[in-house]
Parts: sequence; C-alpha cells; structure tokens
Amino acid sequence: MFEGTRLSNAITRWFSEKRTRGIEFSYRFTGLESKNLSWHFCSLIGVLVEISSLGKGTLLKLHDLHFVALKLRDAAAIYSRVETTRAQVAELKGICEQYFSAVQLLLERMNPTVWSIGYAVPYHMKDLYDMLGYGLGLNSMEGREAKHIKLKNYVNNTCNGRKQLRWAIAFRHEFVSLLWLREADPCYTSTKNKLVSYIPKLVQNGDCLTCNCGLGKSAAEVGCKLCTSRVMRMIKQSVELVKVTDALHVTANHPLPCCSPSQENPQENNE
Ligand SMILES: [Zn+2]
Repeated sequence: MFEGTRLSNAITRWFSEKRTRGIEFSYRFTGLESKNLSWHFCSLIGVLVEISSLGKGTLLKLHDLHFVALKLRDAAAIYSRVETTRAQVAELKGICEQYFSAVQLLLERMNPTVWSIGYAVPYHMKDLYDMLGYGLGLNSMEGREAKHIKLKNYVNNTCNGRKQLRWAIAFRHEFVSLLWLREADPCYTSTKNKLVSYIPKLVQNGDCLTCNCGLGKSAAEVGCKLCTSRVMRMIKQSVELVKVTDALHVTANHPLPCCSPSQENPQENNE
C-alpha cells in the first residue's frame, strides 16, 4: 500500500539510522497519503494483533490506537468538508471529545495538536457554519502553499488601492472566488472534498461484509473481531465515563483476552 512512497522511505530511513539513536519516528502526512492511511490503518493493526509473541501491553496499545485512529478518521471526514449540515457539526463535537478523552486516558500523550482537534476544531467548525453556512474544509490546511500564492496574486491586483485598504481588497477577492461565485453559479454541485472522503467507500456504502472500521466481517456479525472484542468494549466504556474503568486496569495488568468477541451483549458493540 505504501511501498515506494515518501512514507515508506521515511520509515526505512528512521529504522536504519534514527531508531538506534533513540529518536522517535515522526511524519507529516499530506494529500492522498493521509487518506490512504485513514482507509487502511485498520489493516495494519489487524495484521499486528495476530502476532502471537506480542506482549499484553503492546496488544492493549494496538486496541487503543485502533479506537483513537477510528475517531480521528471520522472527525477528519467531517471537518475537512466544505459543504456540511448542522447535524454533522453537532456529531463532530461528540467525536472530537471522544478522541481527546481516548488520547488522554489511553495513550497519555497530550500535545497542542490533540487539544486543537478535541476542542478548537469543533468550535471553529460551528462558528464558521453559523456565520457562513460552510464547513472547515473552506479553510483547510491542504494546499496551503497554493493558497498563499493565490493570496499573493490578489495582493498584486490591489496596486491601485490605497495602502491601508490592500488587505481588505485582497480578502474581498478571496471571498468572491471562494464563496460568492459558488453561491451565484447554478451549475456548481459538488467539491473535491465531497468526492474523496476519509471514510472507505465500502463503509460509506454500508457494505454488510465490512465493519465500520474497514476490516472484513461476516454478514451476521455486528463488527469485526477487533471492534467487538472484550477489550474494545472496555475501552469504549472508559472513554464514555472519561476514566479508566477498573476492568480495563485489571486487563492492563493481566493476560489480555484480546480479539475474543463479546458473548454477553453483542449489541453494545455495534457502532
Ligand atoms: Zn472493526
């Protein structure tokens, strides 16, 4: 999936050079690569949890990562939209809060980016929707360099204006091209973001053989064995209560019954 890409090259370089010096792996996803990861991260985790020699801590961490990545994927699928609805704006708030709680409780790796996604993103999404009726995709980080070049062109067109009015004129140009023309154009129907979602196509289409995360399942099952495992149920409970439950504490300190489908109440696991 990532062979020969910028990501695989970065991993290879880190593995052979930086890892031995204790440097943590870090990588900034851009463009289609970020969408590729959001479509296929569950396959990576699905392969890793099958390794029989993994320690219980690592298995629990993989379940935590699966939950966090799923929330991040669902949040990104909404906050990257230009055209959105009030229901999606409200849904985003809940997903972002769950993402924040999960990182705080399970991964214990808080940083400004996590806080921004947890609280700043849903706030600004709502603000923008209330003000203009569009989603945060209007102000996406994607293509930022291209946007700066475009803004520079607008500034070039303001040479006849008075100096103190230049920024106002540049932003008026941007407003006209981003909003006014879209509203005035009767042929305008969709945007690029609407066509390529962060959520895999099979999940969007409600395929009965695909779990919400993207992994395969049988038609009779409510989810894949990772999503319906006992550990995942405990993780969901902990995030819901915003505290690590006693059951999860115990699991973290005892052999992990990973990937065993819950027999008690499978409906609870249906996301
Ligand atoms: Zn799943």
